Amino acid sequence: MAVQVDLAIRGPAAYGLAQRVITEMESAGVWPTPLNFEIWLNAVHEPEGALATEIQRVLDAEGAISEADSERLAAKFLPRNKLSEQMRDAGAVLDRELSSVADVIAEAHRSQHAYGRTLAGASETISHTQDGQGLKTLVASLTSATEKAQAETAKLEQRLESSTEEIARLRENLDQVRREAMTDALTDLANRKAFDEQLARACAHADATGSPMTLALLDIDHFKRFNDTWGHQTGDQVLRYVASVLSRVCGETRFAARFGGEEFALIFPGEASGAVSCALEVIRKEIASRSLRRRSTNDDLGAVTISGGFAERQAGESLLALMERADAALYRSKRTGRNLISAAETRVRAA
Ligand code: C2E
Repeated sequence: MAVQVDLAIRGPAAYGLAQRVITEMESAGVWPTPLNFEIWLNAVHEPEGALATEIQRVLDAEGAISEADSERLAAKFLPRNKLSEQMRDAGAVLDRELSSVADVIAEAHRSQHAYGRTLAGASETISHTQDGQGLKTLVASLTSATEKAQAETAKLEQRLESSTEEIARLRENLDQVRREAMTDALTDLANRKAFDEQLARACAHADATGSPMTLALLDIDHFKRFNDTWGHQTGDQVLRYVASVLSRVCGETRFAARFGGEEFALIFPGEASGAVSCALEVIRKEIASRSLRRRSTNDDLGAVTISGGFAERQAGESLLALMERADAALYRSKRTGRNLISAAETRVRAA
């Protein structure tokens, strides 16, 4: 749902949708706060969905929606908030586990102390005991103290083992949540946030090692026209198709992300512009080589093409400057006929 809203508010119907959102908020009597806008945007976009149904239920039952209702709706239905709720839940479980482990350790500490006192007492008694019966009693009390200490240790081990398992499960869940937060749900590529982080890392690595690094920006040609002609669902399939070619050609060493809308970004760590130009040509040709079909009607959609621009990072160049050069190269490809890949101009440094 989130991705489709994301596409809708950047598509041809965006302003109509935004106006309907304002109208619906006004008629529900809620303030147009950023939170309410997001809630109503999702509800208006999917009028049969669970969020819209819940809003209607609250309006029918209470006649109005309070700010508390809005908070509750956001926490329950907005994907971003669901994510932070999962993080909060994981944090609470971790807190519980850590405090229970701390309790067990404190208890083990106390029982080790008591055992130590018993041993010290025993050694004192031994030095004064002459008769066999006294020694027998002493050994019996030492045996019982040792058994108690062993039982405590076994309890501690068992508790630590189950905490370790719980923490491993938690870590897996958190990894999953983190992965989701960094992934574009429609195409399964990295999202913009993951791209920003990866680009900063790749530049830092290039600075540290003196190795080359190249950035490419790609854009699907005439995507809006495509969406208007065949509908958003088919548009989504086109995005998935382009993404599948990108991730296949990029493999493990390069980084492909959905930059936003119909735009994609690729990072080529350790690769200079010559190699990148060849790789981008492979991508461009492969994308254009296939004639797609509309699944619902089997209509021939023809071939999809992309335009691209790439820039090899110059020493000390800022991320912004690098992005600007790649973007300018992309727009040169668009202006000069599309279905083209262009290299960025080299920035001339002031002497
Ligand atoms: P998807 O529909 O989830 O398909 C995933 C993969 O399953 C495809 O990867 C392809 O390897 C295989 N597959 C699915 N349907 C067919 C089919 O009818 N014939 C054949 N030979 N293989 C099929 P691929 O090709 O990399 O495509 C990735 C995504 O791109 C697809 O995900 C779909 O969303 C989109 N796509 C690709 N080609 C078309 C097309 O001709 N029409 C539409 N509407 N979407 C397409």
